[in-house]
Amino acid sequence: MEWCRGLAGHAENTNTFVRNVLKQMEYPREMEKILLQPMREVAITMTLRMDSGDVRSFQAYRVQHNDSRGPFKGGLRYHQEVDIDEVRSLASLMTWKTAVFDLPFGGAKGGICVDPSELTVSELERLTRKMVEGFREVIGQYVDIPAPDMNTGGREMAWIFDEYSKFEGFQPGVVTGKPVWLHGCKGREEATGTGVFFGIREMIKHFEGTSIEGKTFAIQGFGNVGRWAAKCIHEHGGKVVAIADVHSGVRNEEGLDIPALSSHVDTGNLLSEFSGGSAYDRMQVLYHPCDVLVPAALGNQITEDNAHKLQCKYVAEAANGPTSPEADTLLHEMGVHILPDIYCNGGGVVVSWQEWVQNLQNISWSREEVMKRLEDSMVSAFANIWKIKHEKKVTLRTAAFIVALSRVSRAQINRGFH
Ligand code: NAD
Repeated sequence: MEWCRGLAGHAENTNTFVRNVLKQMEYPREMEKILLQPMREVAITMTLRMDSGDVRSFQAYRVQHNDSRGPFKGGLRYHQEVDIDEVRSLASLMTWKTAVFDLPFGGAKGGICVDPSELTVSELERLTRKMVEGFREVIGQYVDIPAPDMNTGGREMAWIFDEYSKFEGFQPGVVTGKPVWLHGCKGREEATGTGVFFGIREMIKHFEGTSIEGKTFAIQGFGNVGRWAAKCIHEHGGKVVAIADVHSGVRNEEGLDIPALSSHVDTGNLLSEFSGGSAYDRMQVLYHPCDVLVPAALGNQITEDNAHKLQCKYVAEAANGPTSPEADTLLHEMGVHILPDIYCNGGGVVVSWQEWVQNLQNISWSREEVMKRLEDSMVSAFANIWKIKHEKKVTLRTAAFIVALSRVSRAQINRGFH
C-alpha cells in the first residue's frame, strides 16, 4: 500500500475563506452545512502488476463538492502528495471557480497518490484505465467531467475517454483536455496560463491604470500553467526575472528570454543550466523582489511562516490554494494585493466548458473564437469582482467569493433542500 503524505489542512483553508465570506452575507445559516462539505467522496484502492512483475497498490480519490449549478467539473492530479484532504479542498475551489465565471458546472476534483515519474508509460496507462473502472459509475458527460491537472494532460484524458467509451458508448464529453485531434479544443493547452496573463493584465490596469510592460515577475513552477503565463507576459513586455521548478531555479534582472528558456528545458536541461541567466536557489523564488509573484506549482506555499518574506506588490495565484488564510491576512496588512485562484487560474475551466459544448453538439470552433471567449470571460469576471470589491470595500479574494457564493447559494435555495 502506498501511504500518502499529503499536507494536512488544505480543506480547512478553503473552508475558512468560505466561512468568513458567508458570515458577511445574508443567507440562511443552513447554507454552511451544504457548502462546507462535499456531496460525495469516492476512494478506491487499485492494485497493479508492474512491468517488473511486482504488485503495487495505489489510492485514487474523486470528490464531488457541489452540483447545484450543473454537472461536477474538475481536474485529476497525479502526485505523491495527493490525499483526500487536498482533493476535498480542490473540489470545493472548483465549485467557486465555475461560479465566478458563471459556467453551468459545479465543482469536483480527483487524483491518484503516485509519483508518475516512477512509472513506465504502460504502467501509467493501466493505472489510469483502472481508475476509470473504479469511477465510471460516478462520472459522465452530464454527471461529472474530469480534466487535466498536475502531471496529467491530453494523453491521460484520451485514455479516460477511450476506457469510459468501452463501457458507456461514444462519449467524448465525459472528459475535457483531450488532444485537439481527438475531440479536444483548440487553445485548451495554453488556456490556464493565458488566462493568468489576462487576469494579471486586468488587475494592473484597474489598480494602476497601466499595462504590464516593464513590470517584473517571479514565477514558481514552469509546467503547463507557469510556462504559458511566462510566455504571454514576455510577449507583452513584462520581465520575468526569476523562475523555479521542482529541480532548480534561474534568475536574470534584465528579464529571462522565455522562448529560449522553454527550448532549453524541452531538451532535458535544468533551469539552472540556462546560459541566459544565473542559477538560483529554487526556494528563494517566492521572496524575489518583483511587482508580481506568480505561484504556479503546489498549494500551501505561502503561509504565516514565510508571508513576511515576500517582496512583491501583487500575488497572482496561478496554482490552486497557494496561500493559507493566515498568510492572506498578513499579506493584506502588508499592502499586497492577491489575485485569487478561483479567478486567476479559471481560464482552464472556461476553455474546458467550450470543449464540452463542442463535444455535446459535435461542432468545432477555431482557436481565435476560443481565445476570444476566454479573454471576454476573464475581462468580464474581473470587472464583476472589481465592482463588488469597491462596493463592499473588501479584498479581491473576498469579492470573488461573494460573487461565487451568491450564485451557488441562489441555485441551491431555488432547487430546495431535500
Ligand atoms: P504541471 O505538472 O504541468 O507543472 C507543475 C510545475 O510545478 C512543474 O514545473 C514542477 O517542476 C513545479 N513544481 C512542483 N513542485 C515544486 C516545488 N516544490 N517547487 C517549485 N516548483 C515545483 O502542473 P500545472 O498543470 O502547470 O499546474 C500547476 C498548478 O496550477 C497546480 O496548482 C494546478 O492545480 C493549477 N491549475 C492547473 C490548471 C491546468 O489547466 N493545468 C488549471 C487550473 C489550475
